[in-house]
Amino acid sequence: MTDPEAAPVAVAPLPAGPFDVVVVGAGAAGLWCAGTAALRGRRVLLLEKNRRPGVKVLASGGGHCNVTTTLEGPALLDAFGREQGRFLAASMRRLPPSELRRRLDALGVATDVEPALEKVWPLSRRARDVADALVARAVRAGARLETATPVVDVARDGAALRVRTPRGDVVAPSVVLAVGGCSYPKTGTTGDGYAFAQALGHTVVRCVPALVPLVVETPWVRALAGIALGDARVTVVRDGKLLADRRRPTLFTHTGLSGPGPMDVSRWFEVLPPWHRPTLAIDLLPARGEEDVRRALLDAITRAPAERVARLLPGALPARLAEGLCTHVGVDPERRAAETSKADRHALVQALKRLTLPVAGTRGFDFAEVTAGGVALPEVEPTTMASRLVPGLSVVGELLDVDGPIGGFNFQAAFATGEAAGLAV
Ligand SMILES: Cc1cc2nc3c(=O)[nH]c(=O)nc-3n(C[C@H](O)[C@H](O)[C@H](O)COP(=O)(O)OP(=O)(O)OC[C@H]3O[C@@H](n4cnc5c(N)ncnc54)[C@H](O)[C@@H]3O)c2cc1C
Repeated sequence: MTDPEAAPVAVAPLPAGPFDVVVVGAGAAGLWCAGTAALRGRRVLLLEKNRRPGVKVLASGGGHCNVTTTLEGPALLDAFGREQGRFLAASMRRLPPSELRRRLDALGVATDVEPALEKVWPLSRRARDVADALVARAVRAGARLETATPVVDVARDGAALRVRTPRGDVVAPSVVLAVGGCSYPKTGTTGDGYAFAQALGHTVVRCVPALVPLVVETPWVRALAGIALGDARVTVVRDGKLLADRRRPTLFTHTGLSGPGPMDVSRWFEVLPPWHRPTLAIDLLPARGEEDVRRALLDAITRAPAERVARLLPGALPARLAEGLCTHVGVDPERRAAETSKADRHALVQALKRLTLPVAGTRGFDFAEVTAGGVALPEVEPTTMASRLVPGLSVVGELLDVDGPIGGFNFQAAFATGEAAGLAV
């Protein structure tokens, strides 16, 4: 990963132009947008702050890049929630996941599917192959890519827009803001786009970290670090209202909870103020009903009354977790099973099916895979990504008030909105 503070700024003046379009930011959305516009014959200048384009693509999916999802149509849109889904409908129709995969395949990046989680990966499992293909697509089509070039301001200039950089200004009739959000700032996304958009008159919906690990300070939970559950159900409730419900892998870490389940629901511990903080509960055995679990525990105790109770919890949980649960509900894990009371067994079943953990917060933008919030969607035209307020300006990718769950949704949104703008500028 590059540290933008350390990235040298190129000193040569910007290429002379003229350019029809300046795309600011060479991430997934900007690279795709620049390629699409250049393929239409537009003269495109693509400016990137980092020395290398596509840094977040390279860092994504643990270096493997979960490039999109297998979900299409309403299921795809539903993953973003009602308002965002409605906004994304047109662009996702134009570049749905199946079409994106076909285009990536034509670029030499064959993909395959991880069916259980509907994830699509490059067959090579190399994020670099995706990043290289995106750059090659844009550059081969004629887009001029200038790296180590941070944009410092975007302002109206008569009927056009002026983009300011330390290498000089460039004026063009169209500017596409594709600078991402403010999560993982080490990758170059330091939230510059919010200031640009606001200065031009746009509203920015409050930004909070999303898809971020949760902090749980309880010592017994931290002692479970390293335990991964392939199947768990995480729910978030406040005042009796179910805010989020995800059945996804869950990981215990030295700071709390991570993995797709907890990260997918993490936004709720940021959007609500601390005094309204919701409750997080984990169902450790989501494939089994509560009665089934109760019966299984009782049967196990009846069969092996002399066994330590921690060894008899249903679900073949890791020993450390089973022992932690027993201690949590006040049952000595060493106790002989026959010595447990009905109340003990009830508490154990509750812990297995509805383990409530006190979430102190999230690990913040430094560890968030995306930013929730951004440029307000009603101010952007959903078929073209054109600003409704500033002629010539378009906004794409994560800079918009768009964020999806883990599973390739965020790249899919970046590509689809990039394509929509690339076809319109
Ligand atoms: C660790 C990690 C793993 C992830 N894994 C996945 C995954 O597997 N699947 C998935 O769908 N999503 C994943 N995401 C989310 C995904 O990376 C983003 O949603 C996506 O990259 C957004 O694309 P974008 O083009 O809008 O923004 P970005 O990819 O963030 O690109 C913005 C670009 O603009 C540049 N920039 C910023 N400011 C300026 C400026 N002032 N001047 C010039 N350039 C500027 C940045 O350097 C950057 O290159 C992951 C995110 C992280 C942090």
